[in-house]
Amino acid sequence: MHKILILPGDGIGPEVVAQAVRVSEALRARHGLECELEHGLIGGAAIDAHGVPLPSASLGQAQRADAILMGAVGGPKWDAVERELRPERGLLKIRAALGLYANLRPAPCFDALVDASSLKPDLLRGLDLLIVRELTSGIYYGQPRGIVEETLNGARVRVGINTERYAEPEIERIVRTAFDLARLRRKQLCSVDKANVLESSQLWREVAGRVAKEYPDVALSHLYVDNAAMQLVRAPRQFDVVVTGNLFGDILSDIAAQLTGSIGMLPSASLNAQGKGLYEPVHGSAPDIAGQGIANPLAAILSLAMLLRYSLRRGDLADRVETAVKQALAAGLRTADIARPGERVVSTSQMGNAVAERL
Ligand code: NAD
Repeated sequence: MHKILILPGDGIGPEVVAQAVRVSEALRARHGLECELEHGLIGGAAIDAHGVPLPSASLGQAQRADAILMGAVGGPKWDAVERELRPERGLLKIRAALGLYANLRPAPCFDALVDASSLKPDLLRGLDLLIVRELTSGIYYGQPRGIVEETLNGARVRVGINTERYAEPEIERIVRTAFDLARLRRKQLCSVDKANVLESSQLWREVAGRVAKEYPDVALSHLYVDNAAMQLVRAPRQFDVVVTGNLFGDILSDIAAQLTGSIGMLPSASLNAQGKGLYEPVHGSAPDIAGQGIANPLAAILSLAMLLRYSLRRGDLADRVETAVKQALAAGLRTADIARPGERVVSTSQMGNAVAERL
């Protein structure tokens, strides 16, 4: 029996996660999914109940679970809270505590939504891209860092410092994860770096080349990050899996998100070495629409599909969920964020229902 921890969080988090839970119930009732759901607190909801964004009880639940499905954290109610206790800290803490080093951000373009992107439909039809971003190292963590005073041309000036730093085992681990994922897909892996300028990238490229020898069935290519950004908007379909470091991945995954039209459609996964994962929509808590029942639940539902595929190893059920989402879209169901002017709009729960009943 798989244990799944549900962390709804704040804002639209509970609204969209409720629809993913409804889909999991349909899978249990009709397709033999064996799982136990437990609910916990994170973010502002945890601050309100226990004064901290990740209570030790929630962390304990997360450590015992096989996988975690989260909504979103944060909102104006907690903006004045001191930095260390802000809702987002709960998320950073759980990522660090579980060692979630691999961030997977798929960017599929659904045929029914091909017009929703700012790019021409011809460039996007059939797009199915996966960005694998290293999440626990690189410039966001490297030492030394800080703001210091130095003498420059005889004057004392302040200098901001951050350090891009990657150890060989960190590179090897994320590159290997990306090769394994490429093997399950179209067997093309593009490693993105800045090896013409940065030593950390030279090492990255060398390690990627070495690991590639263990994956003769996967074609490895390399791109500099500036070219990769250009290629993503010029001809995004050339990519299958892209692997890159923390900073480059942060930027490239947002470009990829924009290719598909709405942030309400995009799931993500963060995995550790044991295959445990935290699955969550890419979007935040959307305080501007929270409580209105109009948020798009598909990113949360597609996050559940990733959970089934990567942590529960039930690719068959993940396929069913993704197919049900495509069918609901093809049938014309649209939440407000993906509707064109004049199109009929459905609520969060109507969209969740539509997916569940197609399973
Ligand atoms: P956001 O993603 O919450 O919202 C951006 C815009 O997209 C808003 O107009 C919102 O209404 C819309 N949107 C987002 N998700 C949607 C959905 N499912 N359906 C329809 N529309 C949707 O980003 P933001 O406004 O910058 O941040 C709001 C709060 O969320 C902040 O407190 C921020 O810190 C937090 N946040 C949390 C996470 C997370 O939990 N992983 C990620 C990003 C932001």
